[in-house]
Amino acid sequence: MSFDADVIVVGGGLAGLSASLTAVREGLSVLVLERGEFSGAKNVSGGRMYVHALRQLVDISEAPLERPITKETYLIKCSNRTISFSFSDPESRNSYSVLRAKFDPWLAKKAEEEGVIISYNTLVLGAEREDGGMTVRTNRGDLRAPLVIEADGVTAGISRSLGLRKLEPHSLMLGVKEVVKLEGPPEEGEARVLVGFVGELLGGAFMYTNEDTLSLGATVKINSLQEGNKMARDLVEEIRESLGVTGEVLEYSAHLIPYYGYDKLPPLHAPNLLVTGDAAGLLINDGFVIRGMDLAIGSGMIAGKAAKRILSEGKPQDTSVYERMLRESFVLKDMYTARRAFTLMNEERLFRRYPELLCDVLARMFKVEGERKRLLEVVQEEASKRGLTLTKLVRDLVKVM
Ligand SMILES: Cc1cc2nc3c(=O)[nH]c(=O)nc-3n(C[C@H](O)[C@H](O)[C@H](O)COP(=O)(O)OP(=O)(O)OC[C@H]3O[C@@H](n4cnc5c(N)ncnc54)[C@H](O)[C@@H]3O)c2cc1C
Repeated sequence: MSFDADVIVVGGGLAGLSASLTAVREGLSVLVLERGEFSGAKNVSGGRMYVHALRQLVDISEAPLERPITKETYLIKCSNRTISFSFSDPESRNSYSVLRAKFDPWLAKKAEEEGVIISYNTLVLGAEREDGGMTVRTNRGDLRAPLVIEADGVTAGISRSLGLRKLEPHSLMLGVKEVVKLEGPPEEGEARVLVGFVGELLGGAFMYTNEDTLSLGATVKINSLQEGNKMARDLVEEIRESLGVTGEVLEYSAHLIPYYGYDKLPPLHAPNLLVTGDAAGLLINDGFVIRGMDLAIGSGMIAGKAAKRILSEGKPQDTSVYERMLRESFVLKDMYTARRAFTLMNEERLFRRYPELLCDVLARMFKVEGERKRLLEVVQEEASKRGLTLTKLVRDLVKVM
């Protein structure tokens, strides 16, 4: 049976474009199938990209990045006060704010210039293994290749159609985001981690400054959203109001986020199939920092290289080299380092009781009203008011660290 390309890439987001660009540079013929009208039309991201992986793929001085993040702010909100601390590093160039509606079309154009064929408005409906290759079913007909790179994001339609996994709420978070117009451009690129802004929900909130807009939003566990009986739209509005942001809302979006963690990752490959980015559950989110974009780019590039090795051996059924390459790279190494963070997200203390505890301890330490207690005593008293012991506190601290 004949093939339409060496590799079919399903999904033209960051993982798909990185995979296709790498595979084409390796001398393979590559066809990308993207359901959107253009790359970036369906992609949502809060927008802080750690650019170490991107630097290996393209010259980032040409990329439409918004601002280098040179200021980090932690803002902790308690019932009646807030604590904030910031640090600036004007020289820092390790992460940038990005708007995917600008960035993805740029990367897609680059891929096309280097020989990748992208078919837009092409919805992939599923895939089947046949005669030593893979048949991909789309709304515009069937296509065939010896190897498929799945880069269709969190819902992983290809893996599901092959019976490799199911979509389950406990492995998902919801991300909601607004882009708000700014009156004047911000002084510098700032990332704010917002703690205590999602009320009783398990998750965190964020704000990033772009060229002349702000991205703000939250990521929360789906089951806590159901239990908290809250609408995602109200959540992002509440965050905007509590930050005192008044500019015009230009864009609102909501998107699922994978939440597997290293120990529960879905299959990363199968015969004739390599799974990348969100589709492979490659995302780190500890409620404070979210990293999916660099893992999508990194896993995409590795898939492109692995595709060449697999096809050169003439055995597209044997795809295990891809997982070995991922294990040797930052992708699975960082997922492993962050594995405990995934258990923390289920600890309601971390999100509900600790911000209040921290605020009350600090408020007491800055007050002098006669006899003054030592820090340890104050911590002990405030912890026991919340039914926590010092031992529990120390254990949680060790886990976070
Ligand atoms: C609110 C929010 C905030 C985030 N903030 C950050 C952040 O600050 N930093 C960070 O690093 N990460 C962040 N992430 C995560 C990051 O956006 C993802 O990890 C990253 O986009 C994954 O890239 P991907 O290419 O794997 O998937 P996607 O970007 O989802 O791309 C998948 C592509 O496949 C296409 N597709 C899907 N199904 C089909 C189909 N059936 N047929 C054809 N095409 C299909 C889609 O249209 C899309 O173009 C955030 C996510 C959300 C939701």
